[in-house]
Amino acid sequence: MEYVPTIGLEIHAELRTRTKMFCSSINDADETRPNVNICQVCMAHPGTLPAINKEAVRSVLRVGVALGSRLADYTEFDRKSYFYPDLPKGYQLSQYEYPLVSGGALKGVEITRVHLEEDTASSIHDDATGATLIDYNRAGVPLMELVTEPVIHSAEQAGEFARELQLMLRYLGVSNANMEKGEMRVEANVSISNSGTLGTKVEIKNINSFNVMERAVRYELRRQEELLRSGGTVVQETRGWDDAKQQTFAQRVKEGSADYRYFPDPDLPSLKLSELPGFDAETLQATLPELPHMRRERYLKAAIKPDDADLYVRDTRFGDFFDEVSSGYDADASVLASNYIANDLIKIVRDRAVSAGRDTLTRDSDLQSDFGISATHFRKLIDMIRSKKISSRAAKDILAEAVSTGADPEAIATKKGLLQTQDAGALESAVQGVIDQNPTVVADYKAGKEAALQFLLGQCMKILRGAADPVILRDLLKQKLS
Ligand code: ADP
Ligand code: MG
Repeated sequence: MEYVPTIGLEIHAELRTRTKMFCSSINDADETRPNVNICQVCMAHPGTLPAINKEAVRSVLRVGVALGSRLADYTEFDRKSYFYPDLPKGYQLSQYEYPLVSGGALKGVEITRVHLEEDTASSIHDDATGATLIDYNRAGVPLMELVTEPVIHSAEQAGEFARELQLMLRYLGVSNANMEKGEMRVEANVSISNSGTLGTKVEIKNINSFNVMERAVRYELRRQEELLRSGGTVVQETRGWDDAKQQTFAQRVKEGSADYRYFPDPDLPSLKLSELPGFDAETLQATLPELPHMRRERYLKAAIKPDDADLYVRDTRFGDFFDEVSSGYDADASVLASNYIANDLIKIVRDRAVSAGRDTLTRDSDLQSDFGISATHFRKLIDMIRSKKISSRAAKDILAEAVSTGADPEAIATKKGLLQTQDAGALESAVQGVIDQNPTVVADYKAGKEAALQFLLGQCMKILRGAADPVILRDLLKQKLS
């Protein structure tokens, strides 16, 4: 029997609340000065008392509603005891028996639970002195943990799920979920089996991008298969990812949950969510924006190419721009606008970002200055193409010019003489002139040489300086030569 891969994900995301999970210290992931956003509570001074951040609870419940999960009625926070210098209390406040959210699914992957806990401090290794420095700004930041069922069967599917979750968290505005910054952290549990029951799992940690996750899972699946095929057994352990060697390596044998000595925190009240106004599913549902899958569906229904739709869902600045440009357009015009945004505009914008010294587009940067063209101007361009005032060749040049100068596309078309001559008289005389001056080519065409027509058409375009619709010109030529 073939080996079947099984993967379950545990994903942490830092929530974008104003303050920390159990105190009023500021939650600011961008703070660069160490140990400034701290207070007696998150530094675990004796005698201090934690208080629950309602905004963090609400954020996790909104995620639950978006995933179609069950929201807890009764919930509590538990102490998870372990010692580490980044955990000043000696225990982490987390949730054990009563997570805020249970069940639900995303991209067909069933969710086990989503719970709320607090983040630890960040440890910084100082190479100069060999010391480890600790920055407690992150200690006590609200951290959401989502756990999936072991129902994922490939590295690609795991990647697809994690990427979609990142988008959802961003759409909901609950987390920036940047993997490189550690705002979203993925742990992948991986096993293989050929017996129909689940095999022994290995947990992979220190994954800092989606690509690394996929590579690490693929590596681990191969390692386990080779191990089993050669008569070995998989040890249940935590493994790290070594980016230089592109392999996983054994870190530690995992503690059982008994070692954490979970028990309900006596300093925090348990919550009866139905008694909290505004925390019911209907109220939370009403706060949800259009979610990534809904947006994708909306584009696909409008006959937008799947790749374009994907771009708009992933990069909402392009999506929002497309929505603005195409508002009120019929299906054909929308598809046309989408072609120019997803093929031409994106190239120009990316080149500009690169030459401005940014290798990618920054998310928060202002739309206008990033794109260099307003939706109004872009619409004018599309409208000129639709009404055949400009050729598609000219449209590309006009777009480039509009982006670099900020000028109105209509003005550019006029100034550069790119408006196609619709004037029947001008077309007629151009065509007649070319026919008169090229008797041998005309004879060739009449003798059946189709290529001759192309030459004559080229001559007409030259006289008209490209400012004519080639389809109309061709018809006119044929008509005159028949
Ligand atoms: P633990 O008790 O070790 O924390 P859990 O049962 O709570 O294990 O599962 C933790 C994560 O590991 C979940 O995402 C789950 O889907 C996944 N998982 C559990 N068993 C397996 C397995 N045999 N193979 C792959 N993933 C698994
Ligand atoms: Mg567990």
